[in-house]
Amino acid sequence: MASIVQKFGGSSVADADRIRRVAGIIADTYIDNNDVVAVLSAQGDTTDEFIRKAAEINENPSKREMDVLLSTGEQMSIALVAMALEKMGLPVVSLTGWQVGIRTTADYGGARIKRIDGDRIASELDKRRIVLVAGFQGINKYDDITTLGRGGSDTTAVAIAAAIDADLCQIFTDVEGVYTCDPRKVKNARKLEEITYDEMLELASLGAQVLHNRSVEMAKRYAVNLEVLSSFVRKPGTKVREAVSAVEQTKISGIAKDGDVARIALLGLRDEPGVAFKVFRALAKAKINVDIILQSIGRDNTKDISFTVARGDMETARSVLEGARGAIGFSDMSVTDKVAKVSIVGAGMMSSSGIASLMFEALYDAKVNISMISTSEIKVSVLVDEREADRAMQYIHDKFFEG
Ligand code: ADP
Ligand code: ASP
Ligand code: MG
Repeated sequence: MASIVQKFGGSSVADADRIRRVAGIIADTYIDNNDVVAVLSAQGDTTDEFIRKAAEINENPSKREMDVLLSTGEQMSIALVAMALEKMGLPVVSLTGWQVGIRTTADYGGARIKRIDGDRIASELDKRRIVLVAGFQGINKYDDITTLGRGGSDTTAVAIAAAIDADLCQIFTDVEGVYTCDPRKVKNARKLEEITYDEMLELASLGAQVLHNRSVEMAKRYAVNLEVLSSFVRKPGTKVREAVSAVEQTKISGIAKDGDVARIALLGLRDEPGVAFKVFRALAKAKINVDIILQSIGRDNTKDISFTVARGDMETARSVLEGARGAIGFSDMSVTDKVAKVSIVGAGMMSSSGIASLMFEALYDAKVNISMISTSEIKVSVLVDEREADRAMQYIHDKFFEG
């Protein structure tokens, strides 16, 4: 007997037929003599609908009350799937985050899981029950409901797999696995049989929403055996693990796009020590994370600094910098959210030269202008006009995978 955690995303439980299909997958796993914990997301676009509903009542609700609202979608899903399993005559129990002791940090809307008191799950599994757990939610030190950030049900599943030392954690979604690129944007994207935790973490952090980045971080830390697969077709998916076999090693493993970026440029700064410090200290004080940073070569004792922030931080960043204009000293500020970040990821980059130049050649072929570049050991990111980002992805994809 193995213990298996299975997570089903929103589209997998969107309507009654799909709920029955999901119940069928869970039932088969249980009947094969495994312990099964299934983590469920809210149905379809429920979470987005709740956000719209809240805005009709109050355009600036407290994060605490938002979490009370958003967490209800997952509670509905566990009850409905439990009813489908009951109808099949199987022993099942549905539990909220609070009932299974998912303890999180205090931050409403973006809490991190601190620990899981696994006793309740263990005792239900001992009774040979199928356990259904509401994803995306936990409880903080005030005994308030928290949510884990959009896409957070993946993290619930991996955290439970780590807590009960499960043999396998399967993330069922609406595509057949992890692809070289978002298969909805790039039609010839290829499914990967395997990918390393490190590469998957980069892809997830750089915009591939197929896995929540914290779920990958946690899977790596606790060596959780992770698989991404489809709830619609029964086929092996993509295995996420520490290392992949030699046949799977390609120059890059994937391409991702992140549209959640804005670029700010400060022009005519004095070219002297301490200027960058003043700019980024002001932003840090406002708790704004900065991603790509570019500084021009000084000319006539002035220089420019541009950088990117999350779109949600753009207006705050603008007003913080405007407020510190006297102290920092710049002649102009230009702010835009009409940009997107396109990145290539691959552990093979470390040992193979010319990867970045191949990417830039693809962008040249696509006639896409690059406004910023940033690199690390296993990724290269470029900032481009958001209207050109999908085309850029397609050209880069074809350069690396169709050549
Ligand atoms: P779920 O509701 O199951 O959590 P998500 O919408 O969060 O599903 O994630 C699945 C989606 O991720 C896919 O439909 C696909 O469009 C998108 N996606 C982005 N990049 C990739 C990639 N590299 N491989 C697979 N899917 C990707
Ligand atoms: N329902 C939540 C969301 O839409 C969590 C999840 O689906 O993982 O973000
Ligand atoms: Mg998701």
